[in-house]
Amino acid sequence: MVNKALLSTLPDDPRYLDASYNVQGPLPEEDRNLLSNLKPEERELAKQFWEAVKSDFRFNEYLRGCLNCGVCTSGCPAAKFYDFGPREMIQYMMRNEVDKIWEFVNKKVWACVQCYTCSMRCPFNNEIAGLIMLLREYAVKFALPSAKEVLAPYRRVLLTVITMGNQVTPDMIQPDAFPDWGPQAVEESKNMDVYRKAIPVDLLQRTDIGWHSSLQTAVEIMTIFIESGVLDSIKKIDKDLYDMIMDIYEERKQTLEEIKEKWKKGELKEEDLPDSWLEL
Ligand code: SF4
Ligand code: SF4
Repeated sequence: MVNKALLSTLPDDPRYLDASYNVQGPLPEEDRNLLSNLKPEERELAKQFWEAVKSDFRFNEYLRGCLNCGVCTSGCPAAKFYDFGPREMIQYMMRNEVDKIWEFVNKKVWACVQCYTCSMRCPFNNEIAGLIMLLREYAVKFALPSAKEVLAPYRRVLLTVITMGNQVTPDMIQPDAFPDWGPQAVEESKNMDVYRKAIPVDLLQRTDIGWHSSLQTAVEIMTIFIESGVLDSIKKIDKDLYDMIMDIYEERKQTLEEIKEKWKKGELKEEDLPDSWLEL
């Protein structure tokens, strides 16, 4: 039975509805671990990191409270294989434990596979997977070594997404690009055109143009990545990749401007443009 009199006196912040939060939740300053386990040079960075995460507008939206019930960790596939658990992360956040958050983000946060099971099951409607993404996002922004290490193998994917808007296009599935894929990739690459024609969507019927952006689209995609600050983050964790992407961007932008100029002066006919402008 809901006690309406009690409910009417409760504040809007859902965290106050959690009785256990009052018991568990932020420890008094003097009882908190004041980063004494960290090396002096790391302490300030750890504090700045945690303050940045907490001041993100999504943080309060995603973290609503915690019963410490463990439902999130019990259904977490990553927790079965790694020393990792969403409950421990939420508890550190609730307790404002900077040193534990720092340890978590440097050692564990990348184990999550973003399946969202925890978010779906949490009785407090915490957006747990979102909070993990938030930690990861700031790990990249702060150029933490764990972010550099984890993202290094994804350079090719990042390059393709940022320069083409696609992660992998079907015609990229070639044996030389995926030597570890074995005979299946060989077979698929041989018949790729047939597979695509079997899909009744006009755009997908030609692998050569259906998955390649036009020059204008590619420049627009890259401009969005630059203006939204994604490239700034990449610059901090992988300067070589950043330089490569910016070189491609500058070159394409210039080519596009030249084409537009010629088009304006009537020096270019429509039939002169190839199917994929990226070939220019
Ligand atoms: S989203 Fe991450 S933390 Fe949540 S259940 Fe899936 S793997 Fe575990
Ligand atoms: S499921 Fe929700 S309430 Fe339960 S431990 Fe996890 S975060 Fe806390």
